[in-house]
Amino acid sequence: MKAVLFDLDGTLVRAGGAGRRALNRAVEHLHGAKEVCSEFSLAGRTDLDNFRLALRAALGRSPTPAETEAVEAAYLRRLPREVKDAVDSGRYELVPGIGRLLRELKRLPGVLLGLGTGNVKPGARLKLRPSGLLDHFTFGGFGCDGYTRVSVLRTAVRRASAATGRRIPPDAVYVIGDTDKDVKAGKAAGYHTGVVTAGFGELDKIRKAGPELIAPDFRNLRTWLRWING
Ligand SMILES: [Mg+2]
Repeated sequence: MKAVLFDLDGTLVRAGGAGRRALNRAVEHLHGAKEVCSEFSLAGRTDLDNFRLALRAALGRSPTPAETEAVEAAYLRRLPREVKDAVDSGRYELVPGIGRLLRELKRLPGVLLGLGTGNVKPGARLKLRPSGLLDHFTFGGFGCDGYTRVSVLRTAVRRASAATGRRIPPDAVYVIGDTDKDVKAGKAAGYHTGVVTAGFGELDKIRKAGPELIAPDFRNLRTWLRWING
């Protein structure tokens, strides 16, 4: 049994900045501060971490749990419109080759496909819905499962084990992402890690994190299948 965990933003799709704009609008609506997301990099972080950083930028202090919940709710209210705008204006795109890779992996016996994403679960569904990829994933770890990526990934694996009734050891888990943060989190849990450079990561940081596989995208299907089958 193997579990393959896909990051969402920059790995499955590029949602044309929909998440960033939704979070900016949410904070502006609640606290009046504009464009707070320009003060930090959202890529590779969990949503809870991004909500906290955005609120810190707006308030100049750590937010209370109630303030974080309010911004999450406002973000999720705004996100559908931002995703639709991205789709309508052609800024929403699938990472090349991802559809075919997922279809091929699904045919392999004993391979479970899951999400390992920093997005809160409803946000992940909203961002993925236009891609048509959502149905490939039977389980996942989400941004609502913890502040850190490693806790998100471990939660995903725990859910896959619970669903199948089989223990999935760390060396049977493959994490695929687009930033050094995906790699660091995957390695911290003892999982295999692979990266696409078509997303939002910085290549020198990705290289330094030391994933087993770096590829531009998923068009070289054989490379990815060999790595996961290996
Ligand atoms: Mg990403």
